[in-house]
Amino acid sequence: MEPGVAKKRIAGWGNYPRLACEVHHPQSAREVRRAAAGAPAGGAIARGLGRSYGDPALNADGVVLDLTDLDRFVSFDEATATLTCEAGVSLAQILEAFVPRGFFPAITPGTKHVTIGGCIANDVHGKAHHVDGCFSRCVDSFELLLASGEVVTVSREQDAPLFWATVGGVGLTGIILRATLRLRPIETAYFHKRAVVVDDLDAMLDAIAENDARYPYSVAWIDPLATGRSLGRGVLSVGDHAPLDALPAKLRRAPLKVSAPPAIDVPFELPDFALNPVTLRILNAAFGQILSRGGAFAHYEDFFYPLDMFDHWNRGYGARGFTQYQFVIPLEDGRRRMRELLETIARSGQLPFLNVLKRLGPSNDAPLSFPFEGWTFAIDFPIARGLEDLCRRLDRMVLDAGGRVYLGKDAFLDAASLPPMYPRLDAWREVKRRVDPDERFRSHLSDRVGLTGPLAR
Ligand SMILES: Cc1cc2nc3c(=O)[nH]c(=O)nc-3n(C[C@H](O)[C@H](O)[C@H](O)COP(=O)(O)OP(=O)(O)OC[C@H]3O[C@@H](n4cnc5c(N)ncnc54)[C@H](O)[C@@H]3O)c2cc1C
Repeated sequence: MEPGVAKKRIAGWGNYPRLACEVHHPQSAREVRRAAAGAPAGGAIARGLGRSYGDPALNADGVVLDLTDLDRFVSFDEATATLTCEAGVSLAQILEAFVPRGFFPAITPGTKHVTIGGCIANDVHGKAHHVDGCFSRCVDSFELLLASGEVVTVSREQDAPLFWATVGGVGLTGIILRATLRLRPIETAYFHKRAVVVDDLDAMLDAIAENDARYPYSVAWIDPLATGRSLGRGVLSVGDHAPLDALPAKLRRAPLKVSAPPAIDVPFELPDFALNPVTLRILNAAFGQILSRGGAFAHYEDFFYPLDMFDHWNRGYGARGFTQYQFVIPLEDGRRRMRELLETIARSGQLPFLNVLKRLGPSNDAPLSFPFEGWTFAIDFPIARGLEDLCRRLDRMVLDAGGRVYLGKDAFLDAASLPPMYPRLDAWREVKRRVDPDERFRSHLSDRVGLTGPLAR
């Protein structure tokens, strides 16, 4: 282990919780192995670009291994679009290197500043989940450093239980050192897009169902402060990859352009009073206006990553930070349940802001992967008095509806709520006991929700 590494306060994207952690920056697989082996009793946890909102990449009692320096491409087979790269490679790097060659990440979340290790460990999903599934769908195999110090190649054929326990396993089965994944061939860097303005929740859910049958990419924003008959009003954005012959002549001149505009920085945390019911109403109205604007073609930067235009936009929530609460509930009775959940949020007195409503497709074999077929809703809340109580109330409603919350976003879930939300948890625990009996890999999240530590059964 690197000698004399001082603790520093770090957090996930929500800046809550913030914990003093010993952070190591290994430069090679060998250094990762050495740092993991030298970790104190509190164990080790891998960290990518820290875009999970809560505490899955924090460990105040052990060490945090920041893997972003393991960022090399290893090989690329153009014929099969198969890329092997180190786990710290980000989607931003892949876009920059491969879009000009006509390839795109097969699955992408709403930010490109995520690593391949982080995408596998949270089994992230994107706007096309109903068609493409989760990130694991494009992963052929990965190399995993186990607690024993051994490095194993894991795939659906080679130790399938370990493959699926690592997918969505929030870093607790070992450290992914490199991965082999398939990219998506594209003709252009542009998307054909459509915005549908909708007046209420029933109309919104109908519009999503109708458009999901026609478009692979689909995501809705709702006005989180609307209640009563207006509850669920918002904008549904749908789209598809634009083929070359569909592009207007001006865009056809450089169809595979990589054009990340220089990001605008939010230089410091805004004071807490900046977010209040009045500013929130104005911001939400402005956001709805922007989304409902037309324009048939959008570059992937605008289509997938509008928030990446602002560096450190999380500072806008102030020093106390924020959380993103994301749940999924089954389709059956989903409308009524969703209405109750949205009403509870709108009337909570909290200050809800950015949000996403979407219909997810079927689940996969990973016991801790979040998505299953149903309605998902994700919403940001600044940390404030009463928020934890609201999240616990929502947890109970979600559980009652047969749903679950997303560990990659969560900050408050308790250990009692996890097993009923993730009914295949025992299969995951079996693999964890096999590959890491002494719990060398653990995090603040894993101890909190009982995946490790005294609350683990
Ligand atoms: C603006 C924004 C939009 C987002 N949109 C979406 C979305 O649409 N869909 C979605 O699913 N998520 C979304 N997310 C969440 C984000 O995609 C995930 O949290 C992702 O896992 C973050 O990747 P990371 O590299 O930052 O990992 P981190 O946040 O640093 O770590 C996440 C988890 O991965 C583990 N991990 C990281 N690297 C490794 C490794 N090499 N080996 C083993 N474990 C590892 C960590 O231990 C931790 O448990 C969004 C986040 C933001 C900020």
